[in-house]
Amino acid sequence: MLKDNLIQVENNILTACKKAGRDRSEVTLIAVSKTKPVEMLREIYDAGIRDFGENKVQEMCEKTEVLPEDIRWHMIGHLQTNKVKYIVGKTALIHSVDSLHLAEEIQKQAVKKDVVVPILIEVNIAEEASKFGIRKEEAIRLARELSALDHLQVQGLMAIAPYVEDPEENRPYFSEIRQLSVDIRNQNIDNINMNVLSMGMTGDYMVAIEEGATIVRVGTGIFGERDYTK
Ligand SMILES: *Cc1c(COP(=O)(O)O)cnc(C)c1O
Repeated sequence: MLKDNLIQVENNILTACKKAGRDRSEVTLIAVSKTKPVEMLREIYDAGIRDFGENKVQEMCEKTEVLPEDIRWHMIGHLQTNKVKYIVGKTALIHSVDSLHLAEEIQKQAVKKDVVVPILIEVNIAEEASKFGIRKEEAIRLARELSALDHLQVQGLMAIAPYVEDPEENRPYFSEIRQLSVDIRNQNIDNINMNVLSMGMTGDYMVAIEEGATIVRVGTGIFGERDYTK
């Protein structure tokens, strides 16, 4: 039962919060539902989850059509500029902004729809060639550039840590991300907030919470393994 998985994840989140001396309300759990059928999302919705994460525009749009309106949809995957128009106004938070070019397109669509779009800057913390995200050294500059885009609201940072067997291996990365967010906050850049840290997935969300995550993105731990062969 998916609900049992969710209870397990909830317990782990509580344990991590306690260990770190944090309040449970400081951490939002996103159920990462990519590749999973809407029936499974509904089951988790009925269990009380309202934040869902998807990484493909078309899949997210199909799911928003048929699922309840009070769901907060999170775009966590790499976003192509030509698809931005489909999700602006439908997404609670875009986690994957890693260039001025992409941000400008979001701004353009947001102006058209007269909305303000909450976003995160995606940082490629481990500097893995295969992953998206801006290099840590470039994050402050991008934050300054985004400051001028008045229909964007930068709320913080997002990072994808490497896949590891032992989550402790990712602790230094999570800690670095948190430090980076403090560094950016200390720059006091107009229109740039650093209240959100989206980091931690099924393999390492407890460590991420201990290091300051305010959002964890859990897929496999809730929905089970993904099948990409279909
Ligand atoms: C798929 C995905 C997740 C969830 O991964 P799990 O290991 O299944 O928890 C989290 N974040 C991003 C950006 C993803 O693409």
